Amino acid sequence: KIRTLTGITTSGTPHLGNYVGAIRPAIEASKDENVRSYYFLADYHALIKCWDPERVHQSTREIAATWLALGLDTDKTIFYRQSDIPEIPELTWMLNCVCAKGLMNRAHAYKASVDANVANGADPDFEVTMGLFSYPVLMAADILMFNANKVPVGRDQIQHIEMARDIAGRFNHIYNKKLFTLPEAVVADANDGSAVLQGLDGRKMSKSYDNTIPLFLTEKQLKKHINKILTNLLEPGEPKDPDTSAVFQIWKAFATPEQTEEMRREFENGIAWGEAKKRLFELVNTEIAPARERYNEIMNDPAYLEAELQKGAEKARAEAAPFLDKIRKAAGIKCFK
Ligand code: ATP
Repeated sequence: KIRTLTGITTSGTPHLGNYVGAIRPAIEASKDENVRSYYFLADYHALIKCWDPERVHQSTREIAATWLALGLDTDKTIFYRQSDIPEIPELTWMLNCVCAKGLMNRAHAYKASVDANVANGADPDFEVTMGLFSYPVLMAADILMFNANKVPVGRDQIQHIEMARDIAGRFNHIYNKKLFTLPEAVVADANDGSAVLQGLDGRKMSKSYDNTIPLFLTEKQLKKHINKILTNLLEPGEPKDPDTSAVFQIWKAFATPEQTEEMRREFENGIAWGEAKKRLFELVNTEIAPARERYNEIMNDPAYLEAELQKGAEKARAEAAPFLDKIRKAAGIKCFK
């Protein structure tokens, strides 16, 4: 059986990129009877980049409400908050003890920070925390804890899945037991509208860049945000290149193939940016509007949210606790009973 796992870092308000790249396909996949799906709020991951407790807390609420408002079936799936599963940090430590430091030296996020420091003439490890350095191990624990075998990721995350495989294989080898399943990355095809969405400033749309279009805005705010998408100075009537435009890219992620072709022609015929953005607002709003009210209701009902998360935590721990027992025993920890 396919076991799939998706986490969203609770470091800000969920945005169109999270929706298109992770939440929408995950909810779709969870309807397949042959798939066992694990969805989690990655709050320990949030601490790597975000030291604002109020933001982490608020984000956790918003991301949880987003999944539920969009119709995630929490009876058929396992939906939990990472920090409710103490087995995960414990497994992280055990994996840290077999993970070569050299493997982490090669991780993209760490290397990018070092490169930026060097370029600025700073100490290479300036502001690099152990969290940033070793978070691929926490990610490996997230995956291996539930023996997820197919992990949907963006291109930038493939390396982390390979690291998780590496660590799992090493653990299995050292303790001479087939404890962990080796996970595989499933990369969405960039041609199916699931490419990495650009943010308002042209960089990747990301909670930590504060350049996002949040998913559940009021109509007025959504319109305002879409109007802020960076465009070039081409006038109405001048042909525009759809393939370098964030407006077109977001359009493509929400449109049918026919609508995409039509908009491509409009770009080539020189549609005005104002008009293209107006149509984009209408398209996005049509898809999002039905869940908006439900989202606002759930945001105002923390008891319901907490109950859903506790239900998920119970299911997740029913698997994680006995599995961790097995892992501990294999390593000679707590094995008297
Ligand atoms: P952070 O900056 O806190 O890391 P993020 O918004 O970049 O946040 P994550 O929470 O790390 O995103 O990622 C959650 C999921 O959303 C992942 O599956 C990721 O691939 C997807 N995702 C994030 N940003 C985008 C984007 N701009 N376009 C498409 N998918 C995205």
